[in-house]
Amino acid sequence: MQQKVSLKLLPHQLANEADVISAISKATGNKESNISGFQIHKQSIDARGKTIWINCTVNAFINEPFQKRTIQFFHFKEVSNTSKKVIIIGAGPAGLFAALQLLELGIQSIILERGKDIRARRRDLAILNKEGIVNPDSNYCFGEGGAGTYSDGKLYTRSNKRGDIDRILNLFVHFGAEEKILYDAHPHIGTNKLPNIITAMREQLIASGAQFIFEKKVTDLKIEKDKVTGVHTSDGDFFKGDAVILATGHSARDIFELLHRKKIAIEAKPFALGVRVEHPQILIDQLQYHCNSRGEFLPPAAYSLVQQVNGRGVFSFCMCPGGIIAPAATSPGELVVNGWSPSKRNNPYANSGMVVNVEIADAANSRKKNNLLSQESAESPLQLMLFQQMVEQQCYNAGGGDFKAPAQRMVDFSNGKLSNNLPDCSYQPGISSVQLSEVLPDFIYQSLAQGFKAFGKKMKGYFSNEAVVVATESRTSSPIRIPRDSITLTHPQLTNFYPCGEGAGYAGGIVSAAMDGERIAKQIEKTISKL
Ligand SMILES: Cc1cc2nc3c(=O)[nH]c(=O)nc-3n(C[C@H](O)[C@H](O)[C@H](O)COP(=O)(O)OP(=O)(O)OC[C@H]3O[C@@H](n4cnc5c(N)ncnc54)[C@H](O)[C@@H]3O)c2cc1C
Repeated sequence: MQQKVSLKLLPHQLANEADVISAISKATGNKESNISGFQIHKQSIDARGKTIWINCTVNAFINEPFQKRTIQFFHFKEVSNTSKKVIIIGAGPAGLFAALQLLELGIQSIILERGKDIRARRRDLAILNKEGIVNPDSNYCFGEGGAGTYSDGKLYTRSNKRGDIDRILNLFVHFGAEEKILYDAHPHIGTNKLPNIITAMREQLIASGAQFIFEKKVTDLKIEKDKVTGVHTSDGDFFKGDAVILATGHSARDIFELLHRKKIAIEAKPFALGVRVEHPQILIDQLQYHCNSRGEFLPPAAYSLVQQVNGRGVFSFCMCPGGIIAPAATSPGELVVNGWSPSKRNNPYANSGMVVNVEIADAANSRKKNNLLSQESAESPLQLMLFQQMVEQQCYNAGGGDFKAPAQRMVDFSNGKLSNNLPDCSYQPGISSVQLSEVLPDFIYQSLAQGFKAFGKKMKGYFSNEAVVVATESRTSSPIRIPRDSITLTHPQLTNFYPCGEGAGYAGGIVSAAMDGERIAKQIEKTISKL
């Protein structure tokens, strides 16, 4: 017999099979010797009280032999000789999962990626970190696997489409991720493991007949009547296709500009912008686990904070326990930070984005103050993107160049005091002490300054000069939405053109981008025979 059992265990008990079996025995009234094993179904940490508990649901095998978890099977069809072809622009999670889903449906795709493959991309990241030189086509956002590859690999999503989420997680496991992501409440892969998983996806695609071409930047669309019949690339090549998926992410500003120039409708979309905050991990562990040291059985602690300040949302974003702050800019002269962590999350720092909601009117007001509105009017759909770029440029200049980031200790930041010195920080290009109130737009600065104080009340010890505030976290989500029909999922002006993923405004994170890619692929299957 197999029985679902809910358990409340101490962290060291979960790490010891005999203790778990003993707990199952107590919970079910069965003898320990009759329990042959268990599979964990769900697992989450309850750190609300003085004692830290792990809540878990297990599938216990009682009076029958234990069986290992069966992993979902995926069948990828051979597509080399199929007649129809889908062009996928961008090999991030949205593009990759669209291509994999198309394979399962027996449809061929050609993936055009402006960046380099995983290995070559890693060299460009090293140059960016050590020498402060960014390659505009190969960086933390662009290249094989998209912005998801050298990320934290947190696979948590607010989406409630459980079936779809499980499918995405199972696909990650199929391509090499640990099974733990299937049951952990906050699944996480880690930067060190993601590259092999993404490589395995590419190898499967190529083995089944899909094409994958790196260093192919799409620069124009060929439009005939109401269809995109092909795409031009920066090196003069042209690729024909029956349908086109645009999955270029939130940092492909040249694509937004191209669509705007070609009068293909796009819309400004509110997003969030702020800073990345870094504390010593040990401090966050002490605050969250109410102890001096978390010991060997608990993971480095995370946090999630949200506060309304004068009617505006201030919230933590993409928190990375045991992580590193990364230079995530895609162009010279712009400073963008983000965070990643390895699978063990074993760096001594805890970083998190701390961002403020930005509305269309805020962008226009800020650009007006900087005499920048003449470039594009306040009604332009590029308005928020240009605001984002303006702040990134101001931060780059304030940092002193070479991707040094302007920074301030947290209490100094909120009190408007220049920091005399700065603590150690994981951000490799280096940080410079700057009065951030003079760099960030006033509404962002004021919201964060008050927000940090409020967070310090919710989480005593958080508001501390041991923490450093690094600017700017600006690529939280796309500042633009590319409209699409809610049923056909195509752009309203183009019947075979599918805006997809985070850049088009339909996802925020790896899992939701992957789910959107799959959704588009399934929709294409319904219509491709007619194209
Ligand atoms: C450092 C970092 C850490 C992150 N951590 C997490 C995390 O832990 N969890 C999480 O859920 N999310 C995280 N994110 C966000 C996540 O990576 C994105 O939400 C996700 O990758 C979006 O997927 P996408 O496929 O829509 O776009 P992207 O991943 O941005 O992919 C777009 C792809 O299109 C390519 N492209 C762009 N323009 C062109 C063109 N003209 N021609 C051809 N190709 C083009 C790009 O090179 C890129 O590869 C992180 C992001 C960064 C940068």
